[in-house]
Amino acid sequence: MSDLSDRELGMHRNITRRDFLNGVAVTAGAAMLPWHLLAAADNDPEKSPDYYPPALTGLRGSHPGSFDAAHSLRDGTFWDAAGTPQDTGEAYDLIIVGGGISGLSAAHFYRKLAGANARVLILDNHDDFGGHAKRNEFRVGNAFRLGFGGTFSIESPAPYSKEARGLIDELGIDVASYPKYHDAKLYRSLGLRSKIFFDKETFGTDRLVVGPASLGGGEKDYSASDDLETLKQFLAEAPLAAQAKSDLERLHHEAKDYLPGLSSTEKKAKLARMSYATFLRDVVKVHEDVVKLYQAVPQPLFGLGIDAVPAQDAWGFDLPGFEGMNLDPAPGKGMNRDAIPNEEAEKYFFHFPDGNATIARLLVRKLIPDAIAGNSATDVVLARANYAKLDSPASPVKIRLNSTAVRVKHVGDAAGAKEVEVAYARGGKVYTARAKNCILACWHVVIPYICEELPQKQRDALASAQKVPLLYTNVALRNWTSFQKLNTNAVYAPGCYHTRIGLDLAVSIGGYECARKSEEPILVHMMKTPCKPGRPSREQHTAGRIELFNTTFETMERKIREQLTRTLGAGGFDAARDIAAITVNRWPHGYAYEYNSLFDSFWVEGGETPCEVARKTFGRIAIANADAGAYAYTDEAINQAWRAVGELKS
Ligand SMILES: Cc1cc2nc3c(=O)[nH]c(=O)nc-3n(C[C@H](O)[C@H](O)[C@H](O)COP(=O)(O)OP(=O)(O)OC[C@H]3O[C@@H](n4cnc5c(N)ncnc54)[C@H](O)[C@@H]3O)c2cc1C
Repeated sequence: MSDLSDRELGMHRNITRRDFLNGVAVTAGAAMLPWHLLAAADNDPEKSPDYYPPALTGLRGSHPGSFDAAHSLRDGTFWDAAGTPQDTGEAYDLIIVGGGISGLSAAHFYRKLAGANARVLILDNHDDFGGHAKRNEFRVGNAFRLGFGGTFSIESPAPYSKEARGLIDELGIDVASYPKYHDAKLYRSLGLRSKIFFDKETFGTDRLVVGPASLGGGEKDYSASDDLETLKQFLAEAPLAAQAKSDLERLHHEAKDYLPGLSSTEKKAKLARMSYATFLRDVVKVHEDVVKLYQAVPQPLFGLGIDAVPAQDAWGFDLPGFEGMNLDPAPGKGMNRDAIPNEEAEKYFFHFPDGNATIARLLVRKLIPDAIAGNSATDVVLARANYAKLDSPASPVKIRLNSTAVRVKHVGDAAGAKEVEVAYARGGKVYTARAKNCILACWHVVIPYICEELPQKQRDALASAQKVPLLYTNVALRNWTSFQKLNTNAVYAPGCYHTRIGLDLAVSIGGYECARKSEEPILVHMMKTPCKPGRPSREQHTAGRIELFNTTFETMERKIREQLTRTLGAGGFDAARDIAAITVNRWPHGYAYEYNSLFDSFWVEGGETPCEVARKTFGRIAIANADAGAYAYTDEAINQAWRAVGELKS
């Protein structure tokens, strides 16, 4: 892909610990260690004073060792190596599978109902709690930098429910106070703007060009006239065919009804069934360069490009082409909830430096006060979690990490059973524990493998819950003078490996100070959604997931170094010198799958949705997780926890 040598890219540099296990063992996805050999050497790693997952770099997210037992279960090989499970003799009021925000919220809601002494065990297969809401820490010289490994912020296209908002309040997060902590003007005051990087493989030349918001530049503080000015500059500099440029102008300035003679409802019905790429190509009839330019714009929300995003949703996002179509502003049938604007929801936003890992950490502090010191939603930002306290005999609530639930079943007949038995794999062995009730707050695709007694229709619905694969990469830089020289803080790169690059949001809170000067170390966030344009959405996600599992960290690192060099080289960026550490948060099972009017006919036609079938309580087993609402947001993880707790038997 590039002529840059490994030496020029700094591949030889000793950056903070790389994950050699992945680089060596997980090459073609096949050469993984069997689950029962992983970690067998140390059965209680969390008790070590050195155990501190947020500071690990290299390949994180679904890290090596976290998925092997579940994949072995899926492949039908797990029980061959498992032997007879060892009974821990532990009895709980509630066992929760999944230590993400849904599982942690479920524990919190349950204790409010059952009392603070209720005995709760939370199992999670990862080495850290929080599910997608993970914290990445870096030290660069004397600077401490915090990053989000997954969930970025409190935000949702629709307003938070009473329960979700109530929980945020209870955790002490004052959402309205956010402007106090966010220096919203910092980058603009330094003259930095959103830009677009054209790569030579897709557009014939490498070029960084100023990007108007309507072209995926994405800055919300642009005024409309500012955006038109930027569009002019963009059109002058962009390496696009002359026809594409005139089509772009037409798309932005010509308010034309492209579907004349139809009512607003008829138009929306048509737009719901055609992709935005088809709309641009076949209805507006733009040059192919325009389609390429917009291809990756919706990826941060959908994990898909415009080939698989309905034109009706594109209208909801304010993408161009609909100005003259006289569409009634009410949402059309089958619109994705992400695409329905809501002013109240837009105002409810809060970004902690580690994203919603702060919510997970505040929940853990409520459940196990000894594990995280302090008492406010601001002092938690710098508080170091004590992982040795998460699974302590003294605490009624225990969080057992590195533990994959492999079988969940009622003790006796589901209708009359008084207990549920949960078997879990940990440190190469299998253990069992019992509880009066169980909540499965884990990914729905896993549930059919671990809970075989569920009705077949429900198992099918659970299995249909796709996950959207994503890479959230944090690169710690020693300085960001190259960004300053190129006058940019955010880059959209439609043809590149990571399609978004951005300097960390300038948030200082609870004693944590963000970088304000370009000579200071900073985190750069990069995002990739490994989709396969042209295929149906679920197939794209499956193919992307396989791609992520089959890509070594070394390959990802080379791509990161290469892309940053090509994008920022003219500003003096030197990958070998400037990069201090890299953490790639790999989420093959990322966002909950949201229904799509192009591929899910029930979403347009109405009727029971798969997630409603999937989340039905069965005996003493209730089902939570954001998957239960087919909605990839923190508030949904909380809503579903609340519902699941309410459905438990006494
Ligand atoms: C990269 C990314 C960015 C996001 N950004 C935002 C955002 O900015 N704002 C927002 O509101 N939402 C965001 N979301 C969505 C949001 O993170 C989720 O909706 C929410 O955190 C999901 O919480 P959850 O507990 O339902 O699931 P998860 O966080 O996935 O937690 C489920 C846990 O169960 C574990 N598990 C699975 N199987 C087993 C098993 N057999 N045994 C034990 N444990 C198991 C999983 O490993 C996981 O840790 C983002 C999601 C991703 C992936």
